[in-house]
Amino acid sequence: MARIKINIKEGTIKRSDKVLGIDLGTTNSLIAFVNPANGQAECLGQDDDKIVPSVVYIDALQQFQIGHAAKNKLITEPDKTVYSVKRLLGRSFTDVSEHAGSFGYHLVPDMGKSMVNIEINGKVYNPIELSAQILKALKLKAENALGETISKAVITVPAYFNDSQRQATRDAGKLAGLEVLRIVNEPTAASLAYGIGLDKSDNKTIAVYDLGGGTFDITILQIQNGVFEVLSTNGDTYTGGDDFDRAIVQHWCSVHGIDINQLEQDKIAYQNIRLLAEKAKITLSDHPHFEASIQFWDRSFDFQLEVSTFQKLIQPIVEKTLKCCRLALKDAELEHEQIDEIVMVGGSTRTPFVVESVKRLFRKDHVNNSLNPDEVVALGAAIEADILAGNRKDILLLDVTPLSLGIETMGGLMDTIIPRNSKVPVNAGRQYTTSKDGQHSLRISVYQGEREMVADNRKLGEFTLNDIPAMPAGLPKIDIKFMLDADGILSIDATELRSGVKQSIQIKPQYGLTDEEVEQMLLMAMTNAEQDMNRRQLAETVTEAEQTIYQCKKLLYSNQTLLSEEEKETTLQAIDELEKLCQGNDREAINHSLERLNHITRPFAERLMDEAIGKALTGKKLDAL
Ligand code: ADP
Ligand code: MG
Repeated sequence: MARIKINIKEGTIKRSDKVLGIDLGTTNSLIAFVNPANGQAECLGQDDDKIVPSVVYIDALQQFQIGHAAKNKLITEPDKTVYSVKRLLGRSFTDVSEHAGSFGYHLVPDMGKSMVNIEINGKVYNPIELSAQILKALKLKAENALGETISKAVITVPAYFNDSQRQATRDAGKLAGLEVLRIVNEPTAASLAYGIGLDKSDNKTIAVYDLGGGTFDITILQIQNGVFEVLSTNGDTYTGGDDFDRAIVQHWCSVHGIDINQLEQDKIAYQNIRLLAEKAKITLSDHPHFEASIQFWDRSFDFQLEVSTFQKLIQPIVEKTLKCCRLALKDAELEHEQIDEIVMVGGSTRTPFVVESVKRLFRKDHVNNSLNPDEVVALGAAIEADILAGNRKDILLLDVTPLSLGIETMGGLMDTIIPRNSKVPVNAGRQYTTSKDGQHSLRISVYQGEREMVADNRKLGEFTLNDIPAMPAGLPKIDIKFMLDADGILSIDATELRSGVKQSIQIKPQYGLTDEEVEQMLLMAMTNAEQDMNRRQLAETVTEAEQTIYQCKKLLYSNQTLLSEEEKETTLQAIDELEKLCQGNDREAINHSLERLNHITRPFAERLMDEAIGKALTGKKLDAL
C-alpha cells in the first residue's frame, strides 16, 4: 500500500479579523456579529432597521436601491423591483418556469441550462449580481455600524440547496467583495443561536421549523461531537407567511364584494391591500383584533379581522407545513418522542397559532422561540463566523472542500474522486486498471479543480505505484482511496488488489492554494465549460482510437501467419490514417476513421480473440507488446 499526504488547506484566518454572519433570506436579510466585549451574537442595526428586505430596485439609470426603499417600489414600480431573487439563485429558467408568472418582474425565458436572467429597463441581470447587490448593502451597513471595513463572512443557505445554488451564493458573496469563509445550513445556524451543539458532549436530535415569507422548511438534524448532520429535509418552497396575507386579502374581498381577479389586474391597489393584510397579520400576533380603512377605486374600505377568523383562514396553510413535518420524521425514521429540541425560525412563527400547532404535532410543551425568529439564523451565522475567526478553538464544525480532488486518467482527463463542496472528513475511492499488457508501474497524479482536462487544473502531487505483477492490460485492480480529514489534509492509498503485494512509492508533494487562486479557477471553469466539454470529448475519442490502434497492432504482430498480406496491408493503412488524425483535433474525422478500422479488423479480430482466449485457457501466457 502506498500513501501520501498533501496539504490543501486554504489560508488560515487571523484572530483579529471580524467575520460577519449573514442570513441572505428570500424575503429579508440580516447581518450579525459576535460582540467581542461580551462574546454575545447580536444583529447589526436598530430595532426596525435590523431587517433589510431582500428587494432590489433598479432605476432607468441602472442605479440600485436595496431594502426598505426598494420594498416601497414594489407598489409603484413592480416591474423594476426584484424580490425573492433567492428563488432564482443557481437555477435555470426551466427550473423556475412553473412559477414564472408569480414574479412581478420579467424573467428571460432562456430554455437552456444556464442560470435564469431578469430583464429590467431592457437590461439583463443575473441572480448572482442582484444577490451581490443585497450583500453589498449589508456589508456597507455593517461597516457603518462597526466603523471598520469588513471583508469576510459566513452566509447561510437552506439545507436543501444544491451545489449550484450554494456556489451561486458563494459567487454573490465574492462579487460583493466578501470572502465567504463558509456556507452554513440555516437550520444549523438557528440551532447554534440557541446554543445547541456548542457543547461538544451535546448529542441531540433537533427539528428546525422555519416558516418565512414565501418558503417553509423543516429540517431534522442530529448533533454528535460538534458535528451537525442533516437527517432529512422537507418543506414547500411556495408556502409561507405571504400565503397568510393572501388568505386575508381573499377574505376581505369576499366580505366587501371585491372581484379578486379585477383587483389582481390593478397591481398598485393589490399591493396596497396585500401590505395592509400583512399589517393585520402582524398586529394579530399580539392583539385580538385589527381594523383599518383604505381608499382605492374612489371608494373607502373599512377592513377588519378577528384573531379567531384569522386562525380559520390560515389553518389549511399551517396544516400543509405539519404534513411536511410528518414526512420529514418518516424520512429520518424517527418518532416524535425522539426529537429532543424544536427550534422555531422565520417571521411567521411569531403567529401564536403556528407555535401551538407545532407543539401539538410534536407533543411538546416547550419549543425554542425565545430569540427573535427572524434573527436566529443571522445570530447563528455570527457564532459560526466567530468559530471560524478562531475565537472558539474548542469547537469543531464540519467544513467543505473548496475544489474537487481527483486523478489524471487516460488522455489527460480529470477524474474527480472527491467532488467540490463535499463535507469533510470524507473518504472516497475508485478502481482503476492498467492500459498496457505487463505494465508494472502506474503513475498517479493528483489534481484539484473543476476543469475537464487536468492540464487546466492544479497539480497537487504525484506518486508511482510500482511492482504491479505482469498481467494483461485491464486485469490489475488498482484501488485508489482518497481520505480528506477535517483539517484539509488529503491522504491517498493505492493498492493493487489482485496481488496484494506491498508497493513502493515516490512522492512529490506541492502546496496549497490561496483564495484568489480558488476564485480564479472557479471563474475559469465557468467560462470554459463548453470548450472544456469539446476538449474532453476529443480526448476521449483520441484515447479510444489509441487503444484500438494498440490492440490492432498487437493482434497483427503476434498473429502474423493467420492474416493474408492484403488484410495486413489494409489494416496497416487504416492504422496509419487514424494515427495521423489523432495528432489533430477533428473529432468527427477521428471517429470516422476509427469506425473504418473497426470495420476492417472486426472479422479477423474476432477470430484472433477466440484464439487468444483459447490460449489463455490452456495456460499459455499472453505476451505483452
Ligand atoms: P424569509 O426567511 O423568507 O426571508 P422571514 O423569516 O424574514 O422570511 O419572515 C418573513 C415573514 O414573516 C413575512 O411573511 C412577514 O409578514 C412575517 N412576519 C413578520 N413579523 C411577523 C409577526 N409579528 N407576526 C406574524 N408574521 C410576521
Ligand atoms: Mg429565513
